[in-house]
Amino acid sequence: MAYVSHLMCTLCHENYDLSPTLMTCPKCGEKGILEVVYDYRAMEKAINKAYFKARPHFDMWRYAPLMSLETTDFSNTLSVGGTPHYRAHALEDMYDFKQCYLKDEGLNPTGSLKDRASAVAVIKAKENKQTTIACASTGNAASSLAGNAARADIKTKIFVPKRAPSGKLAQLRAFGADIYSVEGNYKAAYNLSKAAIDHYGWYNRNAAINPHLIEGKKTVAFEIAEQMDFHPPHWVVVSVGDGCTIGGVYKGFKDLYEIGLIDKIPRLLGVQAEGCQPFVQAFKNQRDLEESDEDSIADSIAVGIPRNPIKGLNAVIMSHGEYIAISDEAILNASKVLSNKEGIFAEPSAAAALAGAIEARRKNIIKHDETLSIIITGNGLKDPHHLDKRIAKPTNIDNNLNALKKHLEKKKEPNDE
Ligand SMILES: *Cc1c(COP(=O)(O)O)cnc(C)c1O
Ligand SMILES: [Zn+2]
Repeated sequence: MAYVSHLMCTLCHENYDLSPTLMTCPKCGEKGILEVVYDYRAMEKAINKAYFKARPHFDMWRYAPLMSLETTDFSNTLSVGGTPHYRAHALEDMYDFKQCYLKDEGLNPTGSLKDRASAVAVIKAKENKQTTIACASTGNAASSLAGNAARADIKTKIFVPKRAPSGKLAQLRAFGADIYSVEGNYKAAYNLSKAAIDHYGWYNRNAAINPHLIEGKKTVAFEIAEQMDFHPPHWVVVSVGDGCTIGGVYKGFKDLYEIGLIDKIPRLLGVQAEGCQPFVQAFKNQRDLEESDEDSIADSIAVGIPRNPIKGLNAVIMSHGEYIAISDEAILNASKVLSNKEGIFAEPSAAAALAGAIEARRKNIIKHDETLSIIITGNGLKDPHHLDKRIAKPTNIDNNLNALKKHLEKKKEPNDE
């Protein structure tokens, strides 16, 4: 917290002192999403390459001084972040990328990048002496909240839309959350959660509303920068639903730029599904976001009314990036390539980012001499159902070697010796 200066409304730009109860701008209401503003001049004096070098432990808590936290003891948290950043040679060859990296966020404790925000929510609730946290989510925000809260002895109330995939619900149930499966879509679940939070005074983990959560999400950008020795790529690719993740990625690079640790902010490529692309349309037509259908297999990014329109748009505008929409077909293909060629099993909303990168390269938005890092936001085990038809089925075989030999000879496959 040492370097936090104040909170600023992203809509009317009014400044406010930091306060545990202030979530949105009192003047603008729920649309007045606040941003944590830092004293970069003070921060840059303490946070430099030597600071990181002196701290070999690699998870998101190494960045605590760059966040809006009072807590300094993280022994009771899950080890969030510290995920690998792989060079993807196979993808480079296949798609003519100069240098392509994959940030595998599916390896977080509950299997998605959302852990970075949920871990912060749990800490902030504790700092505020609150014992119950609530959120509305298509799945990952909720399961990550439930997991991170379980370890911190905090109760969770989760509002999910009826369509939430079973893998995600299973996690919620295992972590002991109180789950309310709301009749209707994400919007319905969100509205009920908001009414309940207002009524019962629970801590609010809805990412757009709570300004501290982006401060957790931005740590993924810190890691990419550090993993590239503070020479980030030309492009960073992120799939977009509410707009909080891409907003966080931008904030992370901006922080590093402001304190002089990197000398350019990467261009951000925001990726949405064709069947739900409010950001793409708003960006293309230079207008405000309009409500969209939620028609895609990419469950985690099918958000018809994004809750963080300003931060989600600004991230792309300020970084001179692009928004792009891709088909469900392209997502399924990307998912298959990612697991077959790179060994990373991604949920559709995460594979969407690769699909967007491929399309952006094809359209020459990403040039042949530009480098990129693709954030794989969630694990494929979350939602294997959609991939079922795309991936090879097991061969039925009798329990005898001759049967196997016969089969292999027929298929003329190498016999693995
Ligand atoms: C939440 C989520 C996103 C998008 O994040 P937003 O903040 O909603 O834009 C992308 N991929 C996965 C796997 C997610 O869970
Ligand atoms: Zn305001």
